Amino acid sequence: MTMLDPVALAQALIRCPSVTPRDEGALDVLQGALKPLGFSCQRLVFEEPGTEAVANLYARTGNGAPLFCFAGHTDVVPPGGQWKSDPFGAEIRDGVLYGRGAADMKSAIAAFAAAAARYLAKGARKGSIGFLITGDEEGDAINGTCKVLAWLKDKGERIDHCIVGEPSSVAAVGDTIKIGRRGSMNVRLTVKGVQGHVAYPARARNPIPALAALVTRLAGHKLDDGTAHFEPSTLSFTSIDVGNAATNVIPGEARAALNIRFNELHTPESLMAFINGEAETIAKQTGCEIALEQSVSGTAFVTKPGKFIDLVAKSIESVTGRLPDFSTGGGTSDARFITDYCPVAELGLPNATMHKTDECIAVADIQRLTDIYVALLDAYFKNPPQ
Ligand SMILES: [Zn+2]
Repeated sequence: MTMLDPVALAQALIRCPSVTPRDEGALDVLQGALKPLGFSCQRLVFEEPGTEAVANLYARTGNGAPLFCFAGHTDVVPPGGQWKSDPFGAEIRDGVLYGRGAADMKSAIAAFAAAAARYLAKGARKGSIGFLITGDEEGDAINGTCKVLAWLKDKGERIDHCIVGEPSSVAAVGDTIKIGRRGSMNVRLTVKGVQGHVAYPARARNPIPALAALVTRLAGHKLDDGTAHFEPSTLSFTSIDVGNAATNVIPGEARAALNIRFNELHTPESLMAFINGEAETIAKQTGCEIALEQSVSGTAFVTKPGKFIDLVAKSIESVTGRLPDFSTGGGTSDARFITDYCPVAELGLPNATMHKTDECIAVADIQRLTDIYVALLDAYFKNPPQ
């Protein structure tokens, strides 16, 4: 059986400048590592009008159930800033690997590939291992994971459990796993009044006090107190605009934008119903018209602690000596799509430098994550959770 060095593979992946939605050979590098291990690899290119084509990779070894899948992305955010070394050079200095994607999340993909190699080399194999790797996570996520999942479903391919290699850890590898994520939605408010001369306010209808009243009501409302797995939901205003340069004109329109990060007590529909109700109250009081526009990035989800989460936690403990914290914090990830198909958790490297200048990860952390993934595969196939 072929052995795989996770650090060398991480370096090879980082050397492909795969800034979303470019691939730049990253999937070829991974496929080149997986094929000798016996994985059959399929390249799935999806495209939609108005979007750039995105390459994705689905690889599987084994025919039987259960199918344990590792999901991740080879695309990265642009390097930005002034780096101490080439962001795509994958230089190792004092035991630390530097490069865009080192933490988020090329090194985790390399670690899981190396772990699969070690697991398969032991021989006694049950079930199947899959890789679902997209090139469209940091962008719009339209032609990536959600399309691959639909394609798999059409083929009758059923994933039983999934780990996403996002950098879930905080101070040390495996100290935290993500078992869910908050939902996120954006709302734009437009208040329409009647424009007029400031000297004759009675002949105008000023939208600014109406918008101010609405902003105050919404910002002052407590959405909830949090739940067993989630922090309290938050509503934050991100902009308030009138754009009126004249000092003698009451403007006809005022706008504001807000973002809500919400837990499983809410849905986009319930939140819109609440905002609509508040807007109607203000509209009645002021005579202004209020229009709302929403866009939903993801709804809240959680994989409740049970057999699968337990197995992940104990596998981590067997390597690090401590059980991980369960978190639902942070931004959205592709786990929001996977949760519709199977239980999913995120387990990856420390996230301190993700998306930053001089993104880096300790070589020892890549090796430790590989050990954790091996322990997880061993435990999973020894006693698959139902
Ligand atoms: Zn990521």
